[in-house]
Amino acid sequence: MNLKDSIRTIPDYPKPGILFRDITTLLGSAKAFRQAVDELVQPWAGDKIDKVAGIEARGFIIGGAVAHQLSAGFVPIRKKGKLPHQTVRMAYALEYGTDEMEMHVDAVIAGERVILVDDLIATGGTAAGAVNLLRNMGANVVAACFIVDLPDLGGRQKLEALDVPVRTLTAFE
Ligand code: 5GP
Repeated sequence: MNLKDSIRTIPDYPKPGILFRDITTLLGSAKAFRQAVDELVQPWAGDKIDKVAGIEARGFIIGGAVAHQLSAGFVPIRKKGKLPHQTVRMAYALEYGTDEMEMHVDAVIAGERVILVDDLIATGGTAAGAVNLLRNMGANVVAACFIVDLPDLGGRQKLEALDVPVRTLTAFE
């Protein structure tokens, strides 16, 4: 099936003029969800991936399924103040201003092979922050995977400039 057809577009959300790509319809379809996860992991079938890092919140849903499929551990990357143990923090660029994300200080071991997962890449600011956070802890970021790419916003180029291969399944121009 064409995964793009299972993604719903909501006009003017969260602000007027924005076309929000809503992946809950993909997640709600047993067939589309399985296909998306199967396609995302395909380059690493049989490969040793130690951890999958998912970005809050939709990256948790997809990343959890990807981690299971690759027999890898899962690392949550969260908005600041949500994780209970000692954390490391990274500022990242938003459309307007900056925010901070965190992970547990012991969530990855130096040298571990990690795949980063989120639902969608737009400007790449969020994912680039997560790559920097993981690398600061010594992770080997093997790739970053997203169901949706918004290619006009340049996120892929931003990650590739950091030497992170990018895998995406659908694009909305
Ligand atoms: P970026 O940092 O690449 O500009 O934005 C990507 C982040 O914003 C991701 O965490 C993603 O979940 C969220 N995001 C931005 N726009 C959309 C959208 O249209 N649909 C969905 N599902 N997430 C979005």
